[in-house]
Amino acid sequence: MNDKTNTKVGDNTRLAHMGNNPRDFHGFVNPPVVHASTVLFPDAHTMATRNQKYTYGTRGTPTSDALAAAMNELEGSAGTAIVPTGLAAVTVPMLAFLSAGEHVLIVDSVYHPTRYFADTMLARLGVEVTYYDPHLGADITSIMQSNTKVVLTEAPGSGTFEMQDIPAIVEAAHKGGAIVMMDNTWATPLFFRPLDHGVDISIQAATKYPGGHSDILLGTVSANEACWEQLLDTHGALGMCAAPDDVYQVLRGLRTMGVRLERHQKSALTLARWLEGQKGVARVLHPGLESHPGHEIWKRDFTGASGLFSIVLDGEGEKEAHAFLDALQYFGLGYSWGGYESLAVHVQLNDRTVAHAPKEGPVMRLQIGLEDVEDLQADLARALEAVNAL
Ligand SMILES: *Cc1c(COP(=O)(O)O)cnc(C)c1O
Repeated sequence: MNDKTNTKVGDNTRLAHMGNNPRDFHGFVNPPVVHASTVLFPDAHTMATRNQKYTYGTRGTPTSDALAAAMNELEGSAGTAIVPTGLAAVTVPMLAFLSAGEHVLIVDSVYHPTRYFADTMLARLGVEVTYYDPHLGADITSIMQSNTKVVLTEAPGSGTFEMQDIPAIVEAAHKGGAIVMMDNTWATPLFFRPLDHGVDISIQAATKYPGGHSDILLGTVSANEACWEQLLDTHGALGMCAAPDDVYQVLRGLRTMGVRLERHQKSALTLARWLEGQKGVARVLHPGLESHPGHEIWKRDFTGASGLFSIVLDGEGEKEAHAFLDALQYFGLGYSWGGYESLAVHVQLNDRTVAHAPKEGPVMRLQIGLEDVEDLQADLARALEAVNAL
């Protein structure tokens, strides 16, 4: 790690100097992109004892070490495993800490592919799964079992943005002998540091804000001291390492993540506030708004809001949703988020068992990009006009 870095300096200063030390590679500012399977050993004894820093491409390179060091600095973690996708950043720690006959609690507002993994793979491996209400805080105790080993949190919730009382959940889970994982993709470690609040494993879909340009898939899993070795062991057992060019691009993306997030935050809040007063909008689901039921928790625990939120349209459903989407010019219709361009999607909520869909009408998720906010507002106004004209 670069010794210029410490936790006292500002976020953007840290982002500019963390990860690699330029002096390690002749002063070049950025680390080399190491493409590697084989690493040579100087003699038989060194090979037999594996007594050198790098031993094989799957077990780390100067490139992956630079990103892992950067993430450890941002997350305050003992170690970070780098995996090929954000989804793998969820599945690898689950596989590391759950065995047959054990039980996992998963928040009902979870990212849908996480639910699919739990309902198919975890079920097949004999792990019992219960979905819980995102508004359960300390009361999570009431649904914990003697075999509950993991509590998975994600806040705000996917599509519907429910906040969770993370410190209360952590305290109750630890008392019951379970560890806590958090999918913290929305806030990034710049706006919420899970490990500082007692979470054991912090999950980041680096595909989103760290990548920032809609052209990379990557995930990071950052663990505290107690969980790191077991996580690393499973990461190695699964052969779940990421490709060097993508790792490099995410480290590159991190350098500008702070300034990008400032802009995402500002534009998203401006548009969320404006949308609250618009005809055809039943509700705006953004934890940074005073009207949001999780606003107090957000204010207490988070230091910022990123650029993703939802609106609930007045109406029956698909008809209004499609009219809204088809009228947009700058917002693209597509999955994922965290890139420079704005996106919109009709959120499907029929998988929920506890945290049910809003009743007023269809939920539209908006990713606010880096475009000029006036143009985005005009685009949204056009889309609402199309809905109101139905
Ligand atoms: C996108 C996303 C993921 C998965 O990331 P991929 O890189 O697309 O696999 C995981 N969790 C959350 C909350 C996400 O939004």
